[in-house]
Amino acid sequence: MHELLSSTTADTYLATMHAAVGRIADRLQTTTQPFSGASRNQLQSLVDAVDLDGPGRGAALAVEEADSLFAEHAVWFHHPDYAAHLNCPVAVSAVAAEAVVSAVNASLDTYDQSGIGTLMERHLVDWVNTRIGFTAGDGIFTSGGTQSNLQALLLAREHATARHPAGRSSLHQLVVLATTSSHFSVQKSARILGLCDDAVLTVATDAHGRMLPAALADTLRDAVAAGQVPMCVVATAGTTDRGCIDPLAAIADVCEETDVWLHVDAAYGCGLLVSPTRRHLLDGIERARSVTVDFHKSFFQPVSSSAVLVRVPADLAPAAWYADYLNPAGSSEPNQVDKSLQTTRRFDALKLWVTLRALGADRLGEMFDTVVDLTAQVHDVVAADDDLRLVGRSQLSTVLFRYQPAGLDDAAADHLVPLVRRVLFESGRSLVAKTVVDGRPCLKLTLLNPDATLADVRRVLALVRDTAAALVEGEAMLDRASDLASGAVSAYDAPAVSVPARLGAR
Ligand SMILES: *Cc1c(COP(=O)(O)O)cnc(C)c1O
Repeated sequence: MHELLSSTTADTYLATMHAAVGRIADRLQTTTQPFSGASRNQLQSLVDAVDLDGPGRGAALAVEEADSLFAEHAVWFHHPDYAAHLNCPVAVSAVAAEAVVSAVNASLDTYDQSGIGTLMERHLVDWVNTRIGFTAGDGIFTSGGTQSNLQALLLAREHATARHPAGRSSLHQLVVLATTSSHFSVQKSARILGLCDDAVLTVATDAHGRMLPAALADTLRDAVAAGQVPMCVVATAGTTDRGCIDPLAAIADVCEETDVWLHVDAAYGCGLLVSPTRRHLLDGIERARSVTVDFHKSFFQPVSSSAVLVRVPADLAPAAWYADYLNPAGSSEPNQVDKSLQTTRRFDALKLWVTLRALGADRLGEMFDTVVDLTAQVHDVVAADDDLRLVGRSQLSTVLFRYQPAGLDDAAADHLVPLVRRVLFESGRSLVAKTVVDGRPCLKLTLLNPDATLADVRRVLALVRDTAAALVEGEAMLDRASDLASGAVSAYDAPAVSVPARLGAR
């Protein structure tokens, strides 16, 4: 057997890795747009053409196929014309560490499988906690913000039921307080955790979608008066769409007065923990009971890299389960599985470790600052553009806007939003996102590329503007508008309009 990584296959390993990595390096040098623009039908037939029951073709051909099938049509987050979701370009050092992670294939569940890894992960958790201001906290790496939020709410649920006289029977009374800008994983977690369908109460927000502390106090009081049991307040440090930060210190005041668990979802805003200039935006985070951070969003880490942190180490206890063969109760070894919802678990922490050692925390923070600075400039550019309308300003790196020159009514501008996104996506030239803010559709840029320049973003905005103008001019738009109004088609089905030819190659 010479298929598996071992002393006999070290040479093959080297050659195969070189081939795979070499192809990616070629693509980085030659890729001219963030996406090939292949249609769904084209992609489906490429995939369908592969017979997974066929004989093995050898690593070289298989890796070549991964390149020509997957990498050829992948979406490239490092490309400056990619500006859609919360995906960052990744640190070179982290990608190298990723190769180490999968080759060694450590599993960070028990100490006897990963002694050094366990201690390194714990050191990193301590480092994050120090940045947060948890002086004696604990935590664990997770697969992402969704899992981190789920675990935090699980811990909050156990905390609430443990101190309620009715114990677990109080489950149907528990409520979570969040806002309409909170991440959907809060709602999803509440469902998974067996809370009532309407257990997530919506706290009123200011014009930027930030939780109003006074409204939080009112909602808490009303909930208690109605016989509900507040289990947790979820504040968001960097809302996914608006990039705004809830007033953490004022929210912490309310939570301390009412003795309610405060969870801060900093999946997006965690980059501020290392910012040399903006750390103050997170002031108050140290008063949370639990915190979610996503290194794969604002620390330039490859997916997955996230963590959930707790201020009080004992709060992690409900995550533990003891198995005779793995982590028997009372074991003196530092078994990370005692703190995790997962059992077998990747050593994702190594990527962040290597990145911190390669770049230093300040440099990472400067990189996040760079995208926040760039975003502020883009806000000004959009605000000054007669054809575009800025929809609020973010404190982080999103840009919410609409194409709406004078004379274009709200309904027509609404219809354009999904069409513009779709036409650009199908061209592969530029990727932007869309969302709904205060009931109105709008386009969204998420800027997480510190190498992107204002000129790059201006080019994306020009593509949006010209595509929208072409849609408005074309008869297609008129037809679409009436089809949409009659409900005959969904706004997702774009008309046959392509990116204006005069824009040519960039
Ligand atoms: C992205 C995001 C999440 C979910 O994180 P994943 O890593 O995608 O699971 C949670 N909360 C906020 C605020 C986010 O932006």
